[in-house]
Amino acid sequence: MGRGFFDQHSTPAAARIATALHKLGLAMKHQTWVQAAEDGLSPTQGQILAALAGDGPQTGSELAARLGVSLPTVSDSARALVDKGLAAKQPDPRHPRASLITLTADGKARAAKTRAWPEFLAGAVDALSPAEQEVFVAGLVKMIRTLQVAGLIPVQAMCVTCVHFQPRVHDGPLPHHCAFVDAPMADRHLRLDCDEHVEAEAAAQAATWQQFVDR
Ligand code: SF4
Repeated sequence: MGRGFFDQHSTPAAARIATALHKLGLAMKHQTWVQAAEDGLSPTQGQILAALAGDGPQTGSELAARLGVSLPTVSDSARALVDKGLAAKQPDPRHPRASLITLTADGKARAAKTRAWPEFLAGAVDALSPAEQEVFVAGLVKMIRTLQVAGLIPVQAMCVTCVHFQPRVHDGPLPHHCAFVDAPMADRHLRLDCDEHVEAEAAAQAATWQQFVDR
């Protein structure tokens, strides 16, 4: 039982990473259900409140795309939120026949609570060293972008798809550059949901991505 034992008797690391993420996903789902039930909301209702609080009034279709769920699911949850007095519908000035879902004052108060849902993971992430967090951020960005390209998750406002992102243009510990704020950045600074994000065209995104993954 010397060197190489675990190479011969382990499942591939990729399979174990997928299993670990699945376990985290289950833990998150469980936590979401527990907190939602405590708040008297379904998880989708909680997600809608958080999305409206974060990005303002949206149509049902916009919410469905953002949350990665079907339009009927959003419609049912939005109706329940309206019945609870947490959301209201108003005409959409962009499309005369569509309506926007907005938060009421009670909805805003409840949303402040639901936005903290992912925070329970923060304690676990604190267990990682700064170097481990840096690698983790870059790995997650790569996985999320791969899932986005495959159409398996909604489009995310990430640096790697942004017109302002310039990967590996500097020497040293801050190799990337954000042209929007004109400042260098490292992998640990990569954003997943940036308000200033502007989606780059497909060809530019592909070139940026290649530059980002080339080391
Ligand atoms: S604007 Fe935001 S998403 Fe775009 S490169 Fe800068 S930090 Fe990243």
